[in-house]
Amino acid sequence: MALIVQKYGGSSVADAEAMKRVAQRIVDTHNAGHRVVVVVSAMGDTTDDLLDAAASLTSKPPKREMDILLSAGERISMALLAMAVNELGVEARAYTGAQAGIQTDSRFGAAQIIGMVPERVARAIKDGQVAIVAGFQGISKDDDVTTLGRGGSDTTAVALAAALHADVCEIYTDVDGVFSADPRIVPGASQLSVMTYEETLELAAHGAKVLHLRAVEFARKFNVPLHVRSSFSNKEGTWIVDENYSKSKAMEAPVVAGIAHDRSQGKITIAGVPNVPGTASKIFATVAAVDGNIDMIVQNTAVATPDSSNLSFTVPQAEIPAVVAALEESRDKLSFREIRVSESVGILSVVGAGMRSHSGVSAVLFKTLGELSVNVDMISTSEIRISVVVAPERLDEASRAVHTAFGLDAGTRAVVYGGTGR
Ligand code: ADP
Ligand code: ASP
Ligand code: MG
Repeated sequence: MALIVQKYGGSSVADAEAMKRVAQRIVDTHNAGHRVVVVVSAMGDTTDDLLDAAASLTSKPPKREMDILLSAGERISMALLAMAVNELGVEARAYTGAQAGIQTDSRFGAAQIIGMVPERVARAIKDGQVAIVAGFQGISKDDDVTTLGRGGSDTTAVALAAALHADVCEIYTDVDGVFSADPRIVPGASQLSVMTYEETLELAAHGAKVLHLRAVEFARKFNVPLHVRSSFSNKEGTWIVDENYSKSKAMEAPVVAGIAHDRSQGKITIAGVPNVPGTASKIFATVAAVDGNIDMIVQNTAVATPDSSNLSFTVPQAEIPAVVAALEESRDKLSFREIRVSESVGILSVVGAGMRSHSGVSAVLFKTLGELSVNVDMISTSEIRISVVVAPERLDEASRAVHTAFGLDAGTRAVVYGGTGR
């Protein structure tokens, strides 16, 4: 008898039929003798619809009220799913994030989990009930409802799995597992059977939205085995485990496991900054003061003007206005000439644990992009990743070409069962 946490994403519970199918899977797992805790996302595109509803009233919604609004989507689905499970003859109890003891800080819209006290959930499963928890939400010290950021239900599920010492956390979604690229962009993407936490972290951090980044961080920290699979099929899915486990399966780490694409970032260039020690520190302190999340950085010094340089960095598009305003406000202190903004850039990342011991990955990447005449604007690397900034309108074809160049094409078309990819 295992303790299993199952998370169902929005497309898996989009309507009554889907909800009934999910309820049946939950009941089958329960009847097989397992204890089941379920985390559920808002139905279909509910969260986007709620965002649109707020935008139709105001361009500056108060953050606290925004989180109460957004948390409503998951409250609807948890209650309905509990009804559907009860209907099949198994007792189920629905809990909000607060009732499930998910304690967070007060950063509305991007709250971090700071404590887990899932007593009511533990009691429910002890009593033989299925506990159904609303994903994506928690409660702050001031008793305010918070949300964990888009895609955050994955993190609710892994945090509960860690706190309850579950045997596995199953993430049910609208594709058969983790693929070597987003199947919506690269139809020939191949499904991976096993991946390391580390590779999955790099993919999630660079745009592969199949898993919320913090969910993978939690899973690695607390060693929760993750099993990503489809709620629309019975295929085996993808196991995400630690490196030692995958080695014990006699797997040679692939040089390139997959590629990710990200079009949620923009680029800010600060031109004509003084080429003296301390300048970068002042600039990045200014950006940090408004919580700007910088990813890539490039600095160029022109031969003709060696006493000044240009500094470019990428930030999430939503943060551009605040970062630019903060820099403008400090214009005198930073003494730059001008700020240039690219509202959107494309970022392509190639990830693989085998890169540590293999050279030549960057040569293949740049040769492929060169042959396509795709210009590389910025580059960043980690031990197991290379990322490049390219024009956003070239990102999809560049992703497909790079995928082919690394021999990742499956030869079959990956199945996407539902969802809009929004
Ligand atoms: P859910 O609503 O179940 O949480 P998401 O839309 O958040 O589902 O995540 C699933 C989607 O992630 C897939 O439909 C797919 O388009 C996208 N995706 C991006 N990169 C990958 C990848 N490497 N493997 C699988 N899916 C990916
Ligand atoms: N419903 C939330 C979202 O759309 C959380 C989630 O689906 O994980 O982002
Ligand atoms: Mg998701």
